[in-house]
Amino acid sequence: LRAMADGSAAVLATRVGFIGAGQMAEAIARGLHTAGVLPASRMYAADVNASRCKVFESFGANACSSNAQVAENSDVLILAVKPQVAEKVLLDLRPKLTKEHLLVSIAAGITISNLQKWAGDARIVRVMPNTPCLVGETAAAFSLGDEASEKDANVVKTLFQAVGKIFVVEEKLLNAVTGLSGSGPAYIYLAIEALADGGVAAGLPRAIALSLAAQTVLGSAKMVQETQKHPAQLKDEVASPAGTTIAGLHELEKAGFRAALINAVVAASKRSEALS
Ligand code: NAD
Repeated sequence: LRAMADGSAAVLATRVGFIGAGQMAEAIARGLHTAGVLPASRMYAADVNASRCKVFESFGANACSSNAQVAENSDVLILAVKPQVAEKVLLDLRPKLTKEHLLVSIAAGITISNLQKWAGDARIVRVMPNTPCLVGETAAAFSLGDEASEKDANVVKTLFQAVGKIFVVEEKLLNAVTGLSGSGPAYIYLAIEALADGGVAAGLPRAIALSLAAQTVLGSAKMVQETQKHPAQLKDEVASPAGTTIAGLHELEKAGFRAALINAVVAASKRSEALS
């Protein structure tokens, strides 16, 4: 890891291989490339679907004919196949994996202990990203396997900061992460759709209502992140006495809006725990 003198993003002095070159792998690879974190010439990818390798080649990454070839050429391996095939893929790859490999799994629900069992010697990191990874705004968390080091944690942070934000948590908390940020985009899509419906009910054309709703969510999220103010303070600041906003807030409180969101996160976390 080499920090740039001008303070721009650190450049990874490593080779990154993608085992499975699907949607998530492409999003991460493109993010790394665009952010200047890793030149595409130091990325390697294999996929059973040859057209996916072509996509990687189109931005300068190296296409490999097998997962084993990716492992031979890479220091960091991103396991980006569907969870159902992870065991087979890793057991096949195991003879090629050494202590020198850092295996970063994004496969939902696959535990570190299973990854370690199937991958043998490689150091393990388990990441829970979410779909906005595809637009460079993931909210992700990760946990380190027993053999992974602080340096490995920094490599993973650098990799995923190219496509959003990432935080380290204990593995058992990845269920809570799944309930919040993993499933969260769907809650917000529902909210955006409903806000747009409200706009239509109040007389706006559908397309304008939807754009206003989505931009309102985006802008509000940015306000929380950029002002660093507590959301309750930001809420108070837009609610003037006897005004429009407090009338709307009153309806949300009557409907149990807060409790509905809290319950959604808790229910999804419990479901994640039950499935793991
Ligand atoms: P995807 O289907 O787009 O990508 C998986 C790729 O793996 C496909 O291109 C497929 O051809 C390839 N593949 C299948 N068998 C293979 C093999 N034996 N060797 C090499 N490649 C093989 O799926 P995705 O949405 O990119 O998801 C990838 C992983 O990311 C999944 O494990 C998923 O749980 C995890 N994940 C996805 C999201 C999400 O929002 N999409 C969020 C969190 C985690």
